Amino acid sequence: MVRYDILQLLAAHPEEYVSGERISQQLNVTRAAIWKQIKALKIEGFEIEGQTKNGYRLMKMSLSLNEWAIQQALTTTCLGRTIYLENELSSTNVRAKELAHQGGVHGLTVVARYQSGGQGRLQRQWESPRGGLWMSVVLRPDLSLADASKITLAASVAIVDAIEELFQLRIGIKWPNDLVFNGQKLAGILGEVVGEWNAVQTLILGMGINANFPRECLSAPLNATTLFEILGYEVDLNILAAMILKHLEKEVISLENKTFEKLRLRWTERAVGLGGEVKIIQGEQIFQGVFKGISTDGALLLETEDGEKSFSAGEVQLRSKKSEYF
Ligand code: ADP
Repeated sequence: MVRYDILQLLAAHPEEYVSGERISQQLNVTRAAIWKQIKALKIEGFEIEGQTKNGYRLMKMSLSLNEWAIQQALTTTCLGRTIYLENELSSTNVRAKELAHQGGVHGLTVVARYQSGGQGRLQRQWESPRGGLWMSVVLRPDLSLADASKITLAASVAIVDAIEELFQLRIGIKWPNDLVFNGQKLAGILGEVVGEWNAVQTLILGMGINANFPRECLSAPLNATTLFEILGYEVDLNILAAMILKHLEKEVISLENKTFEKLRLRWTERAVGLGGEVKIIQGEQIFQGVFKGISTDGALLLETEDGEKSFSAGEVQLRSKKSEYF
């Protein structure tokens, strides 16, 4: 795309102005076309200075989602190397599932600027206003079905580490699939298994991060927060996406190398509510006890009056004894 060829050229000369003549010659486009594309890039959020005598200079990358900018920031081998960015989707998980059925490769990533029908577990609604990072990855890892279920844990650790590396911000994991800051939900993960049960596992890993929008964009009763609320500024969503994919790729590879024990320990360090009194809601039943950790197969361990019980993620909800969150 000419637009991104121009951007590429400007990005390759960060300290200088690149003349219209040079761009025109190098990319074989007219000066008028360049001007039009620069205008479009500015609308996309790139800060480009134009000087009649000197040409154009890229001052600042766009913070908004942009396929080219994600590609620039990627350091992965597979994850995100095939990427679809849509302005609006019903749900990135649903789109990723369709693409997986059509043969989408390991690492294929779908990102949407807005989701009209984003979903949490058990078909619950996931609110996805503009400014968030709504992203799903198709994974075809070399894992047994039992190990594949640990991908949600791996994704939680990956997101925590990405946010810490970028913003020096430590968030917590609320088992099984929420990320919280000061007891408020900042992000959620939805892992779904598709395809045959004993052939190569295909998983769709959806991640939703409340990023560049104020809390008011979410409905009032939600116990939620956003990166913008916490940090006080807008973050670069492209760099955030690339950083999460980097950590996620590392976690997936280490699961493939059968190093769950390390992941379990790192997950435990980041978990909220450990050692505390919790409630587990399983359909109509409520279990109370002390949250001891997760087992070697990724299930939550609860010390109850009747001994230790374990719960797998699919069917239950975890609540602090006193409040909804921790
Ligand atoms: P739970 O945390 O109860 O296991 P899910 O992981 O399935 O729930 O996430 C869906 C729930 O998250 C919704 O029912 C709603 O309460 C809450 N929610 C929806 N959208 C958001 C959002 N953008 N940020 C934080 N919480 C949300």
